[in-house]
Amino acid sequence: MIHTVLEDDSIILRPTSVEVDLKAMEHNVRQVRSRSGSARIMAIVKANAYGHGLLRTSQELLRMGVDELGVAFLEEGIALRKAGINEPILVLGGMIGNQVTHYLEYDLQITASSLFKLQQIEEVAAAAGKKAKIHIKVDTGMRRIGIREENAAKLFDAALASEHVELAGVFSHLASSHAKDKDFTHRQLERFLNVLEFFPRHGVPMPVRHIANSGAVLQHPESILDMVRPGIMLYGVYPSPEVERPMELLPTFTFKTRVVFFKVVEQGNPIGYDGTWTAPKESRVITLPVGYGDGYMRALSNKADVLLGGKRHPVAGSISMDQCMVNIGWDSAYVDDEVVLIGGQGEETITCEELAALCGTIPYEILTNINTRVPRRYV
Ligand SMILES: *Cc1c(COP(=O)(O)O)cnc(C)c1O
Repeated sequence: MIHTVLEDDSIILRPTSVEVDLKAMEHNVRQVRSRSGSARIMAIVKANAYGHGLLRTSQELLRMGVDELGVAFLEEGIALRKAGINEPILVLGGMIGNQVTHYLEYDLQITASSLFKLQQIEEVAAAAGKKAKIHIKVDTGMRRIGIREENAAKLFDAALASEHVELAGVFSHLASSHAKDKDFTHRQLERFLNVLEFFPRHGVPMPVRHIANSGAVLQHPESILDMVRPGIMLYGVYPSPEVERPMELLPTFTFKTRVVFFKVVEQGNPIGYDGTWTAPKESRVITLPVGYGDGYMRALSNKADVLLGGKRHPVAGSISMDQCMVNIGWDSAYVDDEVVLIGGQGEETITCEELAALCGTIPYEILTNINTRVPRRYV
């Protein structure tokens, strides 16, 4: 199944696509598995599985042996349930009161981060005669969501006293696990482990403890507790340029298109909106049917290279919403020739790290920007 803007998935006419390499993904899952030992793996599939397609990617990751799934929003969890996925799913983002009935209806695990939210969950679950599964989020330094570590014991007490709540897990999120400087991560981990002392101290069974994202799996093995939450590494991308690389990850993602138009422009001809590139000499210029409306960011105008015939060629002029131009010098190209925007062709490779550096962002944003207008193919 391929998801496109068209209702009918059988009509795939667009020459632009994201190709997902399932063999590479399986390799990455094996690497995470060997690093994490007996810890459970919660594969993070938020934001359309980092641009890889939520449903199919989730199904494949489960087939490859991950234990659970983590999403950002309720709607992503519901989509997975509607597609027939029965494994545990945690919604990592903040919960809002009127969503609780939907969490219960679809058996989605709730991130609980305050006494108020816990009360809302307990009330709705009691009225429905159901037991809500929650993971308590402890803020150990990210300052995004979560109960401050000094107040966590109160929330644990309240959760254990709530009849319609099952405390399935306790987690926290690391702000800098990908960084060269490890101090802040050490401090966050120490705070987290301190907070967890509550359970042995009160003779209560320990819930599933989890804090390790990709950066932590790579360079903080001491943070691999009962479960890990890798996201970007499953997709073969390291979370930062400086992160330690104790294992080889393989990119799972190729963004490609085809030449839709070919022309020769004379010296001095400006190309595209605002004429931001002018042919320095008579040149061959190709047009590609892909633009910033697909997530090929406009910031890449006059900066990115693409691959054609196994060679790099520069984007020429401003990237439009649906199209962009490439200067191929005096090389030859024909309509329908394959062009790679991210990925390998012949001996050459363009990585999403390279594009991220060119537009001053992180590879996460490059991947998640490529939107649902682009069909995904799985190979
Ligand atoms: C996104 C996210 C992850 C995964 O992060 P990566 O850096 O992609 O591994 C893990 N946990 C939480 C709470 C997240 O929001």
